[in-house]
Amino acid sequence: MSILPIRTYDDPILRRKASRVKRVDASVEKLVADMIETMHAAPGVGLAAPQVGVPLRLIVVEPPDEPLIVLVNPEIVRASKEYEVEEGCLSVPGYVGTLRRFQQVVVKGRDLAGKEVRIKADDFLAEVFQHEIDHVNGILYIDRLDSPDKLRKLRPSEVQQEELAE
Ligand code: ZN
Repeated sequence: MSILPIRTYDDPILRRKASRVKRVDASVEKLVADMIETMHAAPGVGLAAPQVGVPLRLIVVEPPDEPLIVLVNPEIVRASKEYEVEEGCLSVPGYVGTLRRFQQVVVKGRDLAGKEVRIKADDFLAEVFQHEIDHVNGILYIDRLDSPDKLRKLRPSEVQQEELAE
């Protein structure tokens, strides 16, 4: 396994709609292992393949005290209750933004064995899924801000918050 460099907001790969994973082969398995290691090292709570330079619809998600989820070709099939959240992104280091997300989502995808999974997620987990699925669609959270003043630079005392970057 290896830690991969994380692409930042000015990289065109982050603006591209990623391709569906057709088959989970050894290269996809290795990519997932590297993504998990990269997410842990960052540290972060979620990572999408385009963030490490691979334009595939593949995400890993691991909020604090929750099990690790790997999802192939993830999509949101149901969403409800919008609310305001503050989030950060490993590809936009040093900043957080305030935006609206759905509080509850149902996410569909496949696991690495090819089995279809459906996950009902609330609150922070729902936010992380929306953030990562945006990444595979070429969208960054900064695109969803109502105005530039919804983005703010983290103070040095807020390093803790950056650990929740996605
Ligand atoms: Zn992100």
